[in-house]
Amino acid sequence: MSAHIKFLDLNKQIKPFNKALIKNVISVIKSKKFILKDEVLKFEKSFSLFSKIKYCAGVSSGTSALFLALKALNIQSGDEVIIPANTFIATAEAVVSTGAKVCLCDVEEETYNISCNKILKLINDKTKAIIVVNLYGNPFDVKSLKKIINNKKIKIIEDSAQSHGARINNNQIGKFSDVSCFSFYPGKNLGAFGDAGAVLSNNKYIIDKVKLLRDHGRSKKYDHKVIGYNARMDDIQACVLNTKLKYLSKWNAKRHELAKIYNMKLKNLSQVTTPVIKENYYHVFHLYVIRVKHRNKLQNFLKKHGIDTGIHYPISLSKISALSANRQACKKKDCCFNHCSVSEKFSKEILSLPIYPELKHKEINYIVNKIKIFYEKKN
Ligand SMILES: *Cc1c(COP(=O)(O)O)cnc(C)c1O
Repeated sequence: MSAHIKFLDLNKQIKPFNKALIKNVISVIKSKKFILKDEVLKFEKSFSLFSKIKYCAGVSSGTSALFLALKALNIQSGDEVIIPANTFIATAEAVVSTGAKVCLCDVEEETYNISCNKILKLINDKTKAIIVVNLYGNPFDVKSLKKIINNKKIKIIEDSAQSHGARINNNQIGKFSDVSCFSFYPGKNLGAFGDAGAVLSNNKYIIDKVKLLRDHGRSKKYDHKVIGYNARMDDIQACVLNTKLKYLSKWNAKRHELAKIYNMKLKNLSQVTTPVIKENYYHVFHLYVIRVKHRNKLQNFLKKHGIDTGIHYPISLSKISALSANRQACKKKDCCFNHCSVSEKFSKEILSLPIYPELKHKEINYIVNKIKIFYEKKN
């Protein structure tokens, strides 16, 4: 095989329904209903049903979903919000944008998700919320966290940007938290043809507030109740999402199956740590992330053999320069930014291999064989 295995291949994804997609998008263009109209309302209903959460507000991106969720929960300057140290910067940006302080918590070795035990030490009078990220598609156990913190005043927000459809014991993500935020960035498990996001909650008050804030603080034209934002979902994106949503369960199942194949084939390599799939956890593998020895050399070796890979994320948030103001704001020695050793170590070892529903078994074989050859040469 003269291979080029892309990290993500959206052409392959849309091929089976390309014609329907174009037809649907053209009908939105013909209707001239472009923002918060029929397609958006339809998507909010369908995605609510899919996620088994009562209320949904379509917004302009995953980042604005997180920001508006925090605003709806009244998070503001003077508050602290705990987030994991290994996540995409957007989780932190949303907190900083409200004026609140980012408090970093290290991640757990097995799941890569925020460490429940370490959260406890970070809670103080100013802690108003915790954002847990269902990282790489791996659902985080919110129910256990709630038991551990045992404080109803602290709100729990799920950053579900990578985990549409993930569940634990048949409980979909978002069920036990106050609010769950999704991104439909084109490369996510469910992706638009541009930016889009959604906020979901079983609490109607929260979603009504988000709906007010996303649209200039108004409920009717020119009746502005509060100062809001422009963070609306548009109908062309909603139309793409409506067309794709019916495939999402099948795609997730395929991702899960491919991850199991990778796990099985990589199991005997001592230099590679494969992701743990816990019993009763439905991990939807937005990313298939392994930890490896000689990460950078392996990545270059794979690149030379036509295999694209990624790193999620190469710099722990504890080392990100954009957050230096938050770092200095905490007391030096016991600053939470100084206690993220697992995230910092992992950032040098993690490697994301290609995973998407259209990836072929023979492509996985090719990738695994190249990894084996790399380590044979090393010995
Ligand atoms: C993609 C992503 C976001 C941001 O979503 P956008 O739609 O790009 O704004 C937030 N958090 C995580 C974990 C993500 O992967």
